Amino acid sequence: MQAWVIGNWKQNPATMSEVNALLETLLATVTDDSDRTSCQLMVAPSCVHLATVGQRLQNTPILCAAQDISAHSDSTGAYTGDCSAQQVADAGASWTIVGHSERRQYHQESHDALMYKLKHAFTQNLGVIFCVGETQEQYDNKQTLEVLNDQLAVVKDLLDKASHLAKTIADNLIIAYEPVWAIGTGKVPTVDEVSTTHDYIKTTLAGFSEALTQTRVLYGGSVNADNAESFAASPVIDGALVGGASLKAESFLAIADAF
Ligand code: PEP
Repeated sequence: MQAWVIGNWKQNPATMSEVNALLETLLATVTDDSDRTSCQLMVAPSCVHLATVGQRLQNTPILCAAQDISAHSDSTGAYTGDCSAQQVADAGASWTIVGHSERRQYHQESHDALMYKLKHAFTQNLGVIFCVGETQEQYDNKQTLEVLNDQLAVVKDLLDKASHLAKTIADNLIIAYEPVWAIGTGKVPTVDEVSTTHDYIKTTLAGFSEALTQTRVLYGGSVNADNAESFAASPVIDGALVGGASLKAESFLAIADAF
């Protein structure tokens, strides 16, 4: 299975000129050396940078994702601060992240809100990188699989409610397993732990629908140029969702080289 390496730029970089510099370095490297990586690359800029990045990446090997979309079904409307699935698709995104732990933590995103985000994304032909993962406390209490089971139930509930979307979901869903305690901390689970968790996610999805048996599961949480190779060696780690290390073209591409 082709690995996917996705950069989540979060609320970075600070200026448009830094965004352009990062983008141009990435593009120059992957277009000058088309054998550089066999991975599918994608970046998720902040919503203010989305249209510029989305347009610049049209017809290039790098895909563009939004970091989030509105839970409201309307394409337009009185939802201050929100961006609809239709708006981000029109701006040039072909994917969106949904359920990142920072959104769950700072914006109290509920099970239903996440399910609607998935539904609106798929309805607008956006792929979804759906993030799941346990907190440090849940990890310490050995509740990881239980937590994942609850978080993945969003996908099952959507399948139950919108069975006509089953094929679209199967073709356009990526799960990113991101232990909250590993995000931005430099701490990482062992490759065996991640592999066991990925096996569980894959089995759970296959239990929801046979169509989901090929769903990619990426690992995210303090992936860098030094540890990427160890994750890439596992046959059930299908790529990486990268935060901090995606803000430098060199480290982002070194991670892609490893996969
Ligand atoms: C993330 O926030 O999705 C992430 C993986 O961050 P980092 O790589 O910085 O831990």
